[in-house]
Amino acid sequence: MGTKRDFYEILGVSKSASADEIKKAYRKVAMQFHPDRNPGDKSAEEKFKEAAEAYEVLSDPDKRAQYDRFGHQAFSPGRGGGGGYSGGGMNMDDIFSQFGDIFGDESPFGSFFGGGGNRRGSGTRTRGVRGSNIRVKLKLNFEEIAKGTTKTIKVKKYVVCKTCSGNGAKDKTSVQTCGTCGGSGQVRRVQNTFLGQMQTVTTCPTCNGEGSTVLHKCTACKGEGRVYDDETVTIEIPAGVQEGMQLSMSGKGNAGERGGASGDLIVLIEEEAHPQLHRDGLNVAYDLHISIPDAVFGMHAEVPTIDGRAKIKIPAGTQSGKIFRLKGKGFPSVNSYEKGDQLIQVNVWTPQHISAEEKQMLEKLHQSPNFTPKPEKNDKSFFEKVREMFS
Ligand SMILES: [Zn+2]
Ligand SMILES: [Zn+2]
Repeated sequence: MGTKRDFYEILGVSKSASADEIKKAYRKVAMQFHPDRNPGDKSAEEKFKEAAEAYEVLSDPDKRAQYDRFGHQAFSPGRGGGGGYSGGGMNMDDIFSQFGDIFGDESPFGSFFGGGGNRRGSGTRTRGVRGSNIRVKLKLNFEEIAKGTTKTIKVKKYVVCKTCSGNGAKDKTSVQTCGTCGGSGQVRRVQNTFLGQMQTVTTCPTCNGEGSTVLHKCTACKGEGRVYDDETVTIEIPAGVQEGMQLSMSGKGNAGERGGASGDLIVLIEEEAHPQLHRDGLNVAYDLHISIPDAVFGMHAEVPTIDGRAKIKIPAGTQSGKIFRLKGKGFPSVNSYEKGDQLIQVNVWTPQHISAEEKQMLEKLHQSPNFTPKPEKNDKSFFEKVREMFS
């Protein structure tokens, strides 16, 4: 057994410590080095085992007396004086089953020892294996985005096997309640000791925590509890979604194996480009092209919006580049009551081909002082307009 540390030293108590002091000391050390609190820490695990060993001996008056007299020699193989002491061969399960006398149900650490590691909290039986998520792309046009819409799509995915209702068994009698755990998926050990009752809970090794075992597999799904198929899914799209947004539909992904929970269906939103309108956040931009006479005389223009057509008045003498704003004609925000605007930029159309007659008329106008540019101070510059447009 090599060099063993003194049991009293391990627990940090004196040789004259009372049984109660030893118990308290062990509780403290065990809490400190408990594997649930020190996951993956080998030295903590060693100390935890060491303390358990020390406690096993010192908590038993006979063994303690032997130890006091002979030291570690008392429990050496071949000596036989120790009687029943498991020595350095204690495994974790032994230690946990020894725990009851230290941490009863009334202990504040009761739940602590129920969870973590491969041990599960009570009542958390897991069935099967959770299904994976599915991602689909959904293309929407501006009108659909503006108002919100309902889409029905066909999704290729694993669905719950109808033959076996997902349990993977050929028939009802093929599903057997696990004999090891009685269907709970957990194995509990309860010990009554003179210090109180204690229990440890571990995942049932026979059924892997599922609570039942399948004798004959369902032939339709080969025991998997799910089959590959299409499913029609109806997706509610809220108004105002944007390119790149993801909507997650809980439980609409692949069915799990053997009754496991379904994954999610993740819908990735794509925007279909509009032939005339351009989206900028909540705002919509539109380029209106008008003729030189219309810019001079003024006009009524009909413009497309994301919600039908709208009429706007272009006043006489409108400059090219002027931006008109249709308040509230933009996109709604998906998560507030905010609404964008439609911005209409006027572009005065310069003809690229003209007849000889038109040329003559324009040359006449060219001489007219009214056709000489005279920008007013309050005409906003291009930069100011851009800033205003995206503010
Ligand atoms: Zn089946
Ligand atoms: Zn079981």
